[in-house]
Amino acid sequence: MNQHCCAEMRYYAESMCDLHPDRFDCAECHIHYDEVLGTYGLIEHSDLGGRIISIDYCPWCGTKLRDASASPNVVWLRPRAEIPQA
Ligand SMILES: [Zn+2]
Ligand SMILES: [Zn+2]
Repeated sequence: MNQHCCAEMRYYAESMCDLHPDRFDCAECHIHYDEVLGTYGLIEHSDLGGRIISIDYCPWCGTKLRDASASPNVVWLRPRAEIPQA
């Protein structure tokens, strides 16, 4: 139960397809919501494992989503195989 700023944001932040249980593997998933930081980012898929580009304002309703200093602007996602086992 996350409180998103608008229905569009909720749709894009929560959408998943049947083929990709990991949203970062899915080219159809464009918005990542970080439940810990409470921040949103654009998912940019690439061969390097992709990255998340933080967004400050909701592209649909214009709500301010974060303080610019509160989180990194870009978070790189490593390829799954390179993530060490905990
Ligand atoms: Zn919104
Ligand atoms: Zn998919």
